[in-house]
Amino acid sequence: MPKFFDAIAGFAVTFGTMFKKPVTEEYPEKPGPVAPRYHGRHQLNRYPDGLEKCIGCELCAWACPADAIYVEGDNNTEEERYSPGERYGRVYQINYLRCIGCGLCIEACPTRALTMTNDYEMADDNRADLIYGKDKLLAPLEPGMVAPPHPMQPGSTDEDYYLGNIKPITDTQDEKDTEKVAGEVR
Ligand code: SF4
Ligand code: SF4
Repeated sequence: MPKFFDAIAGFAVTFGTMFKKPVTEEYPEKPGPVAPRYHGRHQLNRYPDGLEKCIGCELCAWACPADAIYVEGDNNTEEERYSPGERYGRVYQINYLRCIGCGLCIEACPTRALTMTNDYEMADDNRADLIYGKDKLLAPLEPGMVAPPHPMQPGSTDEDYYLGNIKPITDTQDEKDTEKVAGEVR
């Protein structure tokens, strides 16, 4: 008799579950939302005129407990400038086979060049494609930005950039045509 009641109790769980709302995640057709501060793929940010924020200092690489970041800095010149100030990150790589998403690298970055996005779709079937370079990490060009190399904005210093006093290129011109401005800046 006790076995009979055990079976009834088991079916009670089944019947109870039948009337609950399904919680099936329809991934990858409908990728689910993540927490706003989820630590996903990194991003190398730009200033509002398109210059890169990374100064190639390697602090992020030294902070990384998994040795997942590789940086090679180089000197800017007046003819070829990628960031305000003296240095820029010529080579920047993150190995996502090593990264544990801890976020220590973004805390170490002195210019907020490095942040993390909510993008978590980084699976692949080979090692090489999981080492992301600047081509994958650099933030896309927004309206008003021009791809480096190009000079700093006229009359500005690197400090103006660090203090957030730089406007998008289109906002500082009478002519609102970004393509025309891009040609002038280059
Ligand atoms: S999130 Fe952590 S493990 Fe990943 S690159 Fe940054 S410091 Fe390294
Ligand atoms: S991302 Fe930040 S910490 Fe890393 S090299 Fe560039 S400026 Fe330095």
